[in-house]
Amino acid sequence: MSKARRLVAGTVAAGALAVALAGCAQSVDPIERLGRKATEGVHGSRSPAPSAAPSPASLAYRKWGLAKPLVFAPRPDRKPRLPAAGPGRVPVVDRIPVPAGRKIVFLTYDDGAEKDPAFLRMVADLKLPISMFLTDSVAGPGYDHFERIRQLGPGSAVNNHTLTHPNLRTLGYEAQRAEICGQQERLTKRFGTAPRLFRPPYGNYNDDTLRAARSCGLSAAVLWRVTMQIHDLRYAEGAGLRPGDIVLAHFRGRAELKGSTITEMTTAMLRRIQSQGYEIARLEDYL
Ligand SMILES: [Zn+2]
Repeated sequence: MSKARRLVAGTVAAGALAVALAGCAQSVDPIERLGRKATEGVHGSRSPAPSAAPSPASLAYRKWGLAKPLVFAPRPDRKPRLPAAGPGRVPVVDRIPVPAGRKIVFLTYDDGAEKDPAFLRMVADLKLPISMFLTDSVAGPGYDHFERIRQLGPGSAVNNHTLTHPNLRTLGYEAQRAEICGQQERLTKRFGTAPRLFRPPYGNYNDDTLRAARSCGLSAAVLWRVTMQIHDLRYAEGAGLRPGDIVLAHFRGRAELKGSTITEMTTAMLRRIQSQGYEIARLEDYL
């Protein structure tokens, strides 16, 4: 708990949000019924659970407060060339080179404190591809939630965001390695596949970070140019999205979102993306 508290406080300092601890892991997971129902098909013997059933695609966007369906960009023919990285280092990526003329953005969610079952329904209904950057100290008590997201959101993937969310620039090479490789081993064991992408907490890194991440088997350090606040996007430059932008959101709950939920925050984010005419793509298809 103390680690989680420290992490949230640190995140809050970076995000200028109210200080509070996010909710604990959910003991009841309604979407579990959804998963079972899907695998059992029409002959399933369990009683139907209408509230957890996925909405028809034609209605899903309205259910979640959107004016029109989301548009998803197809998988690219080949992955774009990444910025050059020094030998033994991962490249640092803060915007994805996308095909000319395509207005594409990528959804990323960090940390993993909030585990709201309603978000699982939203991910399933809207078929959201989410790149999750998970920190063990806050996500670890409830990795099942993130496994559900991976199952329900087509193309959603789990990535590495260290064991305890330190400012890596304050640590030496070996300590950084312990944070990154430690989480890499834990996620690989829990999810059955090794993450490929890494995000340094607070976006803070140095040369040791890039070497450590490579030595832990990662292929890129992923930063961002746009952050989702409670109701609106904040841009590092300019006044709107740009093609290839990586949007950073967090798994946060009411306490940190001043009463809003993660689903409300996500609806606001998706509306901003739609209103600017953007499609959504899967980050792992490009990196
Ligand atoms: Zn973080």
